[in-house]
Amino acid sequence: MIVHAQSPGIDVPTLLGTVEPAPSDGPLRWSRFLPATEAEGPGRRAALWVQGCRVHCPECFNPHLWATRGGVLSDPTDVAAQWLDAARAAGSTGITLLGGEPFEQAAALAPIARVFRDAGMSVMAFSGHTLSDLVRWAAHRDDVSALLEATDLLCDGPYLREHPDTRRPWIGSANQGIRALSPAHAEEVRRIASQGRADTLEVRIGADGLVSVNGWASDAALAALLDDLGVRADRPQEHVA
Ligand code: SF4
Repeated sequence: MIVHAQSPGIDVPTLLGTVEPAPSDGPLRWSRFLPATEAEGPGRRAALWVQGCRVHCPECFNPHLWATRGGVLSDPTDVAAQWLDAARAAGSTGITLLGGEPFEQAAALAPIARVFRDAGMSVMAFSGHTLSDLVRWAAHRDDVSALLEATDLLCDGPYLREHPDTRRPWIGSANQGIRALSPAHAEEVRRIASQGRADTLEVRIGADGLVSVNGWASDAALAALLDDLGVRADRPQEHVA
């Protein structure tokens, strides 16, 4: 696989994220879709939080998305066109797949990523697995290979709380990489590698008073920011399969 540009993380030995995810060929299990955000990747983009992650990084920002039950179950082909329309209407130029662990649902996410790609949008994905492991698994896994091929920008590696990264956007720890797998965001990744870039935290307060947070911040920083504002909107939904 050609990596067009990268801001690799520091090398920290860890077993987190080293177990190959089991193939999943069921419907997509997801928690939240936003047609537009400016905190989950370059520019304005849609964001899809999938439900389920077996990596279990200590002090993960989204532990409510670890459970492989709950969330919403959807046929990928049904939701892809609907989400593309919503993203276009909101002025987004791409989609970010995060979670949860997108590569645990690679078979369901690959066709969604391709729909966005075919419409001229870029695809960004987060993974608690490293790119080198994903490439190794892709050699015998069509689902992992298909999702990697449809990904323009990958943030890879588990979150290691003892190695926080405050120099680069989107990721949480210094071991994680930001890698341009296509030319789409290679220039931006080169800039991040040479100069760093501040992160963005987006706080939305809905008309119903619900507070939602996009982007990355430490729990302590979030607690200070959100003190007394109310509960997060991206808690697991009540739909149970
Ligand atoms: S891979 Fe991501 S969602 Fe999963 S535990 Fe680690 S930080 Fe959390």
